[in-house]
Amino acid sequence: MYYQPDSMTTILERPGSDCRLYLSQVLIHNANDCHPNPGPRPQKFPCQVCSKACKWSKKIRSIACNNCELWFHTDCLKMNSAIYEALNNTDSSWYCCNCGIPNFNSSLFEDFPFQDNSLTTPTTPSGLHSVLSYSLSISSPKLTSSPKKKQPKPLSKNNLRILTINFQNMRSKREELWTLLEYSTPDIIIATETWLQPSIYEREVLPENYRFAARRDSKSSPHGGVAIITKANLDASELEIDTNAEFVAASIPCTSLRGPVIICAMYRPPDSNTGTMEELRNCATQVVSKHPKQPVYIGGDTNLPDIDWTSLSITGSRYPVAISSNLISLLQDLGCNQLVTEPTRQNNILDILATNRPSLVNRCTVIPGISDHDIILIDTNIIPQRKKPIPRQIYLWKHADNDQMTAHLTEFTADFTATHSPAIHQSTYFGTNSSWNA
Ligand SMILES: [Zn+2]
Ligand SMILES: [Zn+2]
Repeated sequence: MYYQPDSMTTILERPGSDCRLYLSQVLIHNANDCHPNPGPRPQKFPCQVCSKACKWSKKIRSIACNNCELWFHTDCLKMNSAIYEALNNTDSSWYCCNCGIPNFNSSLFEDFPFQDNSLTTPTTPSGLHSVLSYSLSISSPKLTSSPKKKQPKPLSKNNLRILTINFQNMRSKREELWTLLEYSTPDIIIATETWLQPSIYEREVLPENYRFAARRDSKSSPHGGVAIITKANLDASELEIDTNAEFVAASIPCTSLRGPVIICAMYRPPDSNTGTMEELRNCATQVVSKHPKQPVYIGGDTNLPDIDWTSLSITGSRYPVAISSNLISLLQDLGCNQLVTEPTRQNNILDILATNRPSLVNRCTVIPGISDHDIILIDTNIIPQRKKPIPRQIYLWKHADNDQMTAHLTEFTADFTATHSPAIHQSTYFGTNSSWNA
């Protein structure tokens, strides 16, 4: 509940309104969940140029800096679509102006004429490298006023990337999802609140290069529903779990590990039922005990804002303590670390990602979502085993023998019309009309 502090002043100004003021205050104090109206919320992922929200849209595209992870609209950067596509199709990293500029000392500007165009946003991926190599070839400053920024290594597209997404209706978010998949190219998506029904087919919601490795639609309500979506070139297989809980698991073969990596998706609805968490605990324990030596990634929406993940303590009281403590102890029992430290919905960490091999995670970050939850992105050092594309024969028109092809077709046409003339057709076979009558 919110109240407008201004409305109190209005009551005060009216004569004889003391009684109403008193009653309003009593009402406000008795309402437990009461805060001053905060007004519109600031954008969580604002463009660093125009301050408007960055979303997954084909029309207004956005890009994040690989170093500071701040977002920009490509239009605001005046980055044309060819460069955007080129960056998307290569392993190149993109750095914003702030991060792309090395640490200069002031003498650099005196020694070398400052060329304005050399420090603007690079216009091509190779342009980016030339900006950096230009600055490095000048000579690194001996003394710098601030410590050198450590820039992360460019990420390889071979490495396993996992997203955790709360959809709140996957079918209605098709356009945003397809844009997200095209530009963030995850290998695996841990999906919660898919709101899918069995009558909805895979191809209605996923592009052809993705598939459901495991999917459990909610039977009891139109909401809920969990799934593990993988790239079609991964040979993922669903792990059987005897449960009615919103929990699915899949194994993905990897070349860089002995054996597969195990992925689990779970969803706990926002209620106070302690049994649900207990059932989710059973599922996770079942899976991990069957694959004790494999890396496990457990992701999903647990709807538990009361947990302080830094101190692993329970600081709120929105849900029974038993539920939150059950999740903490589950992850501890499985030897898993929860990696998400930024809020994923408003100020709360509702979506989590836990693993028993945090050392295999290169980075864990939160990116703009397609529902009111943000998306968790992790890049790992794991190389998944990818199926090779099936070879197909492509004929080159320039090598075709056109004369022979024309002669063959002419001969075929004559032969075909002779053997399928209406007279022969009617007497020998069922003609169109007789088939129709039959
Ligand atoms: Zn902008
Ligand atoms: Zn940056």
